[in-house]
Amino acid sequence: MKLSLQKKILEENDKIAEENKAIFSKHGILAINMMSSPGAGKTTLLEKTLTDLKDKFKFAVIEGDLATNLDMERINKCNVPVVQINTGRGCHLNSKMINNVLSEFNLKNVDIMFIENVGNLVCPAGYSLGEDKRVVLISTPEGHDKPGKYPVILSSADLMVINKLDLMPYVDFDIDKAMFYATQVNNEIEIINVSCKTKDGIQKWYEWVIGALMEKRKDA
Ligand code: MG
Ligand code: ZN
Repeated sequence: MKLSLQKKILEENDKIAEENKAIFSKHGILAINMMSSPGAGKTTLLEKTLTDLKDKFKFAVIEGDLATNLDMERINKCNVPVVQINTGRGCHLNSKMINNVLSEFNLKNVDIMFIENVGNLVCPAGYSLGEDKRVVLISTPEGHDKPGKYPVILSSADLMVINKLDLMPYVDFDIDKAMFYATQVNNEIEIINVSCKTKDGIQKWYEWVIGALMEKRKDA
């Protein structure tokens, strides 16, 4: 009984995700689902990206959190349209939540939409939002074993970003091991190592985002 209910929820989610996908495609928008555990630096990476690239591309952001508008307020300071979704007890975003807020944006005026998921390395993996790309952030204080311990989210990701490289001298994080675990569960995953603090590697991330947008426009 319980399994079939879960199956029904996921089927319903996939259906609305397809609707979202069609809406994004109609407007030529690249949608990126950003996933990580709490505190890995999703919002900080977005702040850097929006600040550095907003003269070249038009961005929009959906922020997912259990509570507060704190991340929305941070994105607001970058002068980028942003909507906050508060999930209450919900530990992931679903396609319906995204569908409900899309009308709050002027979609004709968006090149790239970032969707910052609720901080959680487990169930966001199961819920498609209609995105084009999935990015998983792992930060060095979390430990290099995380890509191995959360294989489901890694297996569905297009890119793993290892963040907080600047903390490497203070934590026991073996970058080769982290990359090994990630490629073991997903041999097609791309990997970029960054520090949002020193901006080390950040250019590679920008190139990846821009490359994904070009790819989407080529397919359109
Ligand atoms: Mg955040
Ligand atoms: Zn969940």
